[in-house]
Amino acid sequence: MTEKTTGNNFVEAEVRADIAAHTYKNDRVLTRFPPEPNGYLHIGHAKSICLNFGLGEKYHGATNLRFDDTNPTKEDMEYVESIMNDVKWLGFQWKEPVHYASDYFPQLYEFACRLIRMGLAYVDDQTGQEIHDTRGDLKTPGTDSPWRNRTAEENLKLFADMKAGVYPDGSKVLRAKIDMASPNLVMRDPVLYRIVHASHQRTGGTWCIYPMYDFAHPLSDAIEGITHSICTLEFEERRPLYNWCLQAFDGPEKPRQIEFARLNVTTMITSKRKLKRMVDEGVVAGWDDPRMPTISGIRRRGYTPESIRRFCDLIGVAKSDSTVDVALLEYCIREDLKSRVPRVMAVLDPVKVVLTNYPEGKTETVTLENNPENPEAGVRTVPFTRNLYIEKEDFMENPVKKFFRLSPGREVRLKGAYIIRCDEVVKNEDGSLREIRCTCDMASRSGTPGSDRKVKGTLHWVSEETAVDMTVRLYDYLIPPDDQDDGRDFMEKINSHSLTVMEAKGEPEILRYHRGDRFQFLRKGYFIMDEDSRDGHPVFNRIVGLRDTWAKMQKKQES
Ligand code: ATP
Ligand code: MG
Repeated sequence: MTEKTTGNNFVEAEVRADIAAHTYKNDRVLTRFPPEPNGYLHIGHAKSICLNFGLGEKYHGATNLRFDDTNPTKEDMEYVESIMNDVKWLGFQWKEPVHYASDYFPQLYEFACRLIRMGLAYVDDQTGQEIHDTRGDLKTPGTDSPWRNRTAEENLKLFADMKAGVYPDGSKVLRAKIDMASPNLVMRDPVLYRIVHASHQRTGGTWCIYPMYDFAHPLSDAIEGITHSICTLEFEERRPLYNWCLQAFDGPEKPRQIEFARLNVTTMITSKRKLKRMVDEGVVAGWDDPRMPTISGIRRRGYTPESIRRFCDLIGVAKSDSTVDVALLEYCIREDLKSRVPRVMAVLDPVKVVLTNYPEGKTETVTLENNPENPEAGVRTVPFTRNLYIEKEDFMENPVKKFFRLSPGREVRLKGAYIIRCDEVVKNEDGSLREIRCTCDMASRSGTPGSDRKVKGTLHWVSEETAVDMTVRLYDYLIPPDDQDDGRDFMEKINSHSLTVMEAKGEPEILRYHRGDRFQFLRKGYFIMDEDSRDGHPVFNRIVGLRDTWAKMQKKQES
């Protein structure tokens, strides 16, 4: 059982009202999640999943997973599988079996015939362009099609011939007969069926007419006995059409559509079409690239399902569109991992330190807590030797004000071990830093009597002799956090420096772990061991940094 993810939002209030009013038999609740299998799911879909499945669970109901596969040319089984995988990963279980809108093609065809018999639908011979051009606009009513008043018999025959493959693509459509002067443009005789001679991934060549979303969706909901059909705000103006189409359904209980605002997150693109372009044009390595806002990308990046559910819970359900700061998502993963993952030391951008007074060949073991915020996580030992690595950025030859780390003549503590003082800087021929030579205060070892001398900085470190070679990937946002719509194509705005690969050094403890394990690398952030890891050479993705107070201070100083 997953954590309840829906608070008391307005969608939930509607569900409660229906329960109180006994709108549905036995006060049942059945929601659905209806993805179109034309891409991988993204963070916005996660919101919809949490809302639909969350309500199903909370009100002792259930949630159907229905693939909305009415568009034969764009869909793929790869997407179907990834979507099922994503829903399960988020911690939800749909009511078996999995549904497909295409399973209802025969029934939907019968519903369309019923509308024709009711005088509510007709076959139109106009071209798509003509239909578009005669629709009118907000100020002008549309024009009736010359084919609008065909008899039911004639329409039934033509529709049957459309189904039988008599006509080429685009030569005829089935339209709803509603009102060409309706103030709601959606209601001006919308198209219900179109001819597409294309093979469908599930029904093959059985059909050459396919229902439009506006027709298939309400009726699929009705067939399944869905009570609350929750969708995003752009469908609000289509709600009258949703209800209109339900006239074709003669069951006792009809679903109702409730709209909520789409989730947008700063730095994240939430459009399958755009994400597909990024994959197709090679801007990222694939749908599950850890920079992608897809659920599979976020998963590979190292986010936990709990953190995503918590995020969806915290943002609530809105009635008007807004954009959530990605910082909230990052807060959720830090909060989730902070007490539950071990902390280890890894030096991402190493520079060698030699402790000139520390005996060669000597190894001491330093005992460190695995997680100071969780005593149950226990302790581990880390080898300490004469030759070590620290981060290059923890050393400054000419320190700026308020830099409290290592620099010539200054002292720092090496985490859990000794205080060291920098005596000498050794350079390569090109002037770059080669190694730092230091003296170790042998009386300062942490935890020993008289060791409580205080110095301002404490650095993480790794012993050279036992260091694990590892690759670390750091990520930056694909889209800048302060991005404004300036009319430019989103592809032009993509950050071309969003990936940094480092050859890093880690403490030996790391080799005890496996792909998929998460850590905090001390002072460096949260990381996950990626599936690209090889035996003896792990690869890590940075999930999120720790809040970098130093970077903030520097920014303040600059401004
Ligand atoms: P996209 O624009 O990414 O293609 P879509 O709406 O076309 O999204 P569907 O597969 O039809 O994708 O979406 C399945 C469900 O997820 C729908 O109920 C849809 O309303 C919902 N959904 C899609 N995007 C978001 C979002 N950004 N926030 C909340 N719900 C969303
Ligand atoms: Mg859609």
